Amino acid sequence: MHITIIGGGIGGLALANRLEREGISYTVYERHATFQPLGAGIGIGSNAMLALTRMGVSDDVLQKGMPLHTQKFYDRNRRLLNTIDFTRLKKQYGEETVTIERADLHEALYQNVPSERIQFGRALVSIEERDDRVFATFDDGETVASDVLIAADGIHSVVRRHYVPQSTPRYAGYTCWRGISPNDGRVEHGVSSEAWSKEGRFGWAPLYDGTVYWFACINTKADDPFYKQLTPRELSYHFRHFGDDVASLIEETDDAYFLHHDLYDIRPLETYTFGRVALIGDAAHATTPNMGQGAGQAIEDADVLGEALADYSSWEDAFRHYEQTRRPIANKVVSLSRQIGWAAQWEHPFLTTFRDTVFPFVPKSLLFWRLTFLFR
Ligand SMILES: Cc1cc2nc3c(=O)[nH]c(=O)nc-3n(C[C@H](O)[C@H](O)[C@H](O)COP(=O)(O)OP(=O)(O)OC[C@H]3O[C@@H](n4cnc5c(N)ncnc54)[C@H](O)[C@@H]3O)c2cc1C
Repeated sequence: MHITIIGGGIGGLALANRLEREGISYTVYERHATFQPLGAGIGIGSNAMLALTRMGVSDDVLQKGMPLHTQKFYDRNRRLLNTIDFTRLKKQYGEETVTIERADLHEALYQNVPSERIQFGRALVSIEERDDRVFATFDDGETVASDVLIAADGIHSVVRRHYVPQSTPRYAGYTCWRGISPNDGRVEHGVSSEAWSKEGRFGWAPLYDGTVYWFACINTKADDPFYKQLTPRELSYHFRHFGDDVASLIEETDDAYFLHHDLYDIRPLETYTFGRVALIGDAAHATTPNMGQGAGQAIEDADVLGEALADYSSWEDAFRHYEQTRRPIANKVVSLSRQIGWAAQWEHPFLTTFRDTVFPFVPKSLLFWRLTFLFR
């Protein structure tokens, strides 16, 4: 069996790692001309660390990652609203929750994939299934055939658009900046935090090399020209009510690490498999980042699908197992993450007062229990 993987992002490379370990033949096709280790920081939940362990990558991730023991939530005045205890997840499931520079995660996955297995500068333009094969055609006009094709081509997936043309990204209602800046003692080791206010939301977490990953979200229309041109200084002014530490984290961000995107997800799909084709990662279930689970879910897809392709005697059974195991969990992440973002981005004083009054009384055991569906 030979497998075509479309996309050399986190999901595609995680699947390559899994197939490499299983000794299954595959080729990754990536549209960019070179390896693209871009982005700010990323959170990897212990559910995804379990999958990375099975791929043999978790040691590299831990080496460049910062293990977290607590998530803290604050209101506009930095009053502590509630906390999530990550050590409880570690005790129960055996793995850390980690923050890492996105480039380091990408590199950890990329370094294990033999160079002859990846073709760069190859953008898929169309696919066709016939004669018990699937044919992928690229922008250079070449067509390649394989037994199955796995689409890891992200939220704007060409493959998903082919099978489910009505599944277009839906705007979350808020725009988001991300950055990396020096820590200089401002952020506690092992603790990630979020502060919520009617003006917007700010989140921050330490990285292992003395820097801090932060994100900031503001409600607005999609593609708002005003927010597109904000500088770090102007953005820090908008969030100054959270305190000098927050404002200086934003202001001290190097231009190269100051990223801005509108946030989108896709409506949960009814199936992730179409004949000899399966979708993984954002192509199947792009989610808002409110649970810090997008990359983690892509990694788990790769783990389950790679293992099933090795264990089952037919790709049909492997696809069935993948669909049954992954779709309920990943679709729930999309829905729950959207709900969390909706409440975290409330602006109306009545709603924010209600949230900030009730949230401290939500038992920590309930916050913990809300995460357990992630573990199969
Ligand atoms: C603001 C923000 C914060 C986030 N924070 C977190 C977090 O803390 N934790 C977390 O787990 N996740 C987070 N995520 C989500 C995470 O980044 C994504 O879920 C993850 O990158 C999905 O991986 P993927 O491989 O499916 O897609 P991608 O990473 O998008 O990779 C897709 C790849 O396919 C290639 N490609 C696309 N089209 C084609 C084509 N036609 N032919 C060939 N190649 C193609 C692309 O070039 C790319 O390399 C965040 C996302 C955002 C926007």
